[in-house]
Amino acid sequence: MPQVYTFKSLESYPKLVHQVTQKDDTQAYAFSLALHTNENPADILANRAALQAQFPTMRFVVANQTHSDHITIIDKPIEQGWRALETAIEDCDALITDQSGIMLTVLTADCVPILLFDPVQKVVATVHAGWKGTYQSIAAKTVQKMHTIFQSDPQDIRVAIAPSIGVCCYEVGEEVARHFFDDPEAYIAKENGKYMLNLPHINQQQLLKAGLEADHIELSGICTACEVDSYFSYRKEQGCSGRFMSMIGLE
Ligand SMILES: [Zn+2]
Repeated sequence: MPQVYTFKSLESYPKLVHQVTQKDDTQAYAFSLALHTNENPADILANRAALQAQFPTMRFVVANQTHSDHITIIDKPIEQGWRALETAIEDCDALITDQSGIMLTVLTADCVPILLFDPVQKVVATVHAGWKGTYQSIAAKTVQKMHTIFQSDPQDIRVAIAPSIGVCCYEVGEEVARHFFDDPEAYIAKENGKYMLNLPHINQQQLLKAGLEADHIELSGICTACEVDSYFSYRKEQGCSGRFMSMIGLE
């Protein structure tokens, strides 16, 4: 069975399931779970079947992520995007549901995967936040959507920020960094004119501004580029095609 990462803060709730997959060199494509990166689909589907076998009651929902701020509400307990790319939720970077039996997913290799859970209204969400999604405050917009659609109180929402590229390894030019200059802790300016950008920190700050409690946000603290043996890293692997999956759902 492949190694996985889980969050302490999400483990104590009955019916709540979540997981972040890790690489497994004994599986096809090191256990990549992405259908959109031109690997042999049969091998990826075998990896997905092995993952789903751990959650036999759950139907998985996958989005076609486009670095947008588009949020989709899943209002039916129907599998989507799991066995074919064509059935994925189109042009979407955040998913929310109050349906039980649905596993919401996000595929990444450096971008920030975020899992959200409201234990009061029984709502879960996933967010895919690269720098563009972060610049568009997609995590905070997802919290607002949970509030308007499902009456979630931001103070009740638990968040887990899964492994992504860290400030140690995410060098960007000024054209990217300048979007985040309002927070001096969001970046480190380098002597070469480049910037080390801290996407997990920026998302955490946006969630605090959206009304979340500081001790309801758990960061993995793991950098995908530093820990490339366990996680796919687009930067570290010079444009890898593998993706790991972060997921959350209510049984
Ligand atoms: Zn690093």
